[in-house]
Amino acid sequence: MTTLSGIGVGRGLAVGPVLRMPDPLPEPPTTQSTLGPDAEKERVMHALAATADDIRARAAKAGGMAGEVLEAQALMMDDPMLKTDVDARIDTGATAERAVHEAFGVFRDMLAGIGGYLGERAADLDDVSRRAIARIAGVPAPGVPESDVPFVLVARDLAPADTALLDPELVLAIVTSEGGKTSHTAILAGEKGLPAIVGVAGALDLAEGTTVIVDAGAGTVEADPSAEALATAEQKIADRAARVHTTGPGALADGTAIPLLANLGSAEGVDSAVAAGAEGVGLFRTEFLFLDSSSAPSVETQKSAYSAVLAGFPGKKVVVRALDAGADKPLAFLNDAEEENPALGLRGIRSLRASEQILRDQLTALAQAEAENEAEVWVMAPMVATVDETRYFTGLARELGLTTAGVMVEVPAAALLADRILAVADFASIGTNDLTQYTMAADRMLGSVASFQDPWHPAVLKLVGEIGSAGTTSDKPVGVCGEAAADPKLAVVLVGLGVTTLSMSAPAIADVRDELARWTLAGARDAAQAALAAEDAAGARAAVEGLTPA
Ligand code: PEP
Ligand code: MG
Repeated sequence: MTTLSGIGVGRGLAVGPVLRMPDPLPEPPTTQSTLGPDAEKERVMHALAATADDIRARAAKAGGMAGEVLEAQALMMDDPMLKTDVDARIDTGATAERAVHEAFGVFRDMLAGIGGYLGERAADLDDVSRRAIARIAGVPAPGVPESDVPFVLVARDLAPADTALLDPELVLAIVTSEGGKTSHTAILAGEKGLPAIVGVAGALDLAEGTTVIVDAGAGTVEADPSAEALATAEQKIADRAARVHTTGPGALADGTAIPLLANLGSAEGVDSAVAAGAEGVGLFRTEFLFLDSSSAPSVETQKSAYSAVLAGFPGKKVVVRALDAGADKPLAFLNDAEEENPALGLRGIRSLRASEQILRDQLTALAQAEAENEAEVWVMAPMVATVDETRYFTGLARELGLTTAGVMVEVPAAALLADRILAVADFASIGTNDLTQYTMAADRMLGSVASFQDPWHPAVLKLVGEIGSAGTTSDKPVGVCGEAAADPKLAVVLVGLGVTTLSMSAPAIADVRDELARWTLAGARDAAQAALAAEDAAGARAAVEGLTPA
C-alpha cells in the first residue's frame, strides 16, 4: 500500500481503478518525411477513417445534442477540401502528422473567420485533429479517456473545458499532480460533487488500473489498499451518504440569517443547487459558458443561456458575474494577447473595458433575460482594483437597465479601499481565491506554491475584515463566493468578520449550514478575532477549533 498526499477539495471519498489522462500531444515537427508520399497518404487515410469511426461510435452512445455535435465532427473528417490539402502537403515532403496538423489548422482558422455557429465549431476541429494525429502516431487519444466502468481520473492537470464535461456517473474522483485548491479544475470538480486531490506529487506514477482510495478530507490517495483499508473506506462512504443534515435557510444558532447561495457555471447545476437548498445564486461564472467560443456570443445566445439559470430561481437573487476572461480561463474573443503573467494582465474588468461592446452586449442580454424571468438579477464585475473601475462598471450596468450593480473584491487594493468602493457599488462579493493568490503572491494554478494558497492566512482574513467593516458601516451587503465559503469553520470566521451571505458549490451547502447552526453571532466574532490574532493559517485554524461549541 502506498499513500500519496496532496490538497483535498471537498470532503468526499471514493474508491476505484485509476485511468490516466494522456498528456497533450506536442506539435508535430516540421522534419521531412522519410517514408515517401504514398506511405504517408496511406497512414493518413487509415487514421482519418478510424478516427471518424471512433467519433461516430461515441455519437451513437451519447445521443441527443452531444451526439449531433459528434456526428458533425465525424463529417468534418470527410471534407474533400481538407483531404486535398493534406495530400498536397504530403506531396511537398511533410509527414502525415504534420500535414494533418497544418491542413486542419487552416480549416479551423477559416471556420473561426466565418464566425457564428461555424465559428463555434472551430475548437471541435482542433480536437478532431489531435485525435487523428494520435491515431497516426499510435499513441492514446488526448483528452478525458473513455471507459464503460467508473474510474478515478489521474492527470497532470485538466483544462476547465475538460472538467466541465466530466460525467459524474463515470468519474469517481480526480487526482492531479498540478494545481492548487482554487484552480478552476478543483472548483469545477467541487461543483460536480467530485472528490478531488490536487498537487499530488507522484500521481503520474500511479499505474493504470491500480485500485485507489481517494480521501479528499484527508488529502490522501492510497494505492493498492489492504482489504481492511478498503472496508473502512466503503463504510465511511456509506456513513456520509446516510448523514442527516439540518434543513432550511442558513442561520446562526441565535437566528441571525446567513443566506446560503450556490456557485454555478451553467444551467446544468440548477437542479442540484435547488435540491441542496440554495437560497439563490451567489456567483454565476458566465465565462464558463463560452470557453470554447472563438467569437463573442450574440445577445440572443447569451439571453437564452442566462434565462436558463434565472428560470430556476423565481423570486430569488441571482448574482451574475460579467465575463472573467484571462489567466486559466482565456476566452478567444477577449484575450488575444500573449502575456508573461496572465494573472496580472488584462483579465476580468480590464479586458471587458478594453472591448466595451462585448460588455455592453452581455449587460444588455442580462437585462433582457431578467425582464423575461422572475429572478432578481444582481450583476458584478470581476477583478476590480480601483474606485474608477467600480464607477465605470456600475454606471454602465445601470445605463443598460440593471438596477443592482456591484463588484468582486479579489485584489488587495480594492479590499483596502473597500469603504470608497462601497460608496459607489451596491454590494461587494469577495473572491477569496484570487484575493488569496494576490495577497500571498502565489499562483493558484501552481502545485509547487499551493501551500500559500490558504484563505485561513490572517493576512487574507485581515483584508476580508476591511471589506466586512466597510459593508457594516455603509449598510451594504458583502458576500463571499470564493472557495473559503465552502469550508464550514472558515465560513463561521467570515461571518464574524462582517460577511452577510455565503456562496459555494452546491455539494458544500449542507456541511456549512450544519456548522453555522452551532455558533451565535457573538461566538463567530470571537472566532474571527482569534483567527486574526494568529501568526499563520495553521494557527488560525487551531484557534477556531479550540473555540468550537460542543
Ligand atoms: C475567486 O477568485 O474567489 C472567485 C470566486 O472567482 P474565480 O474563482 O472564478 O476566479
Ligand atoms: Mg476570481
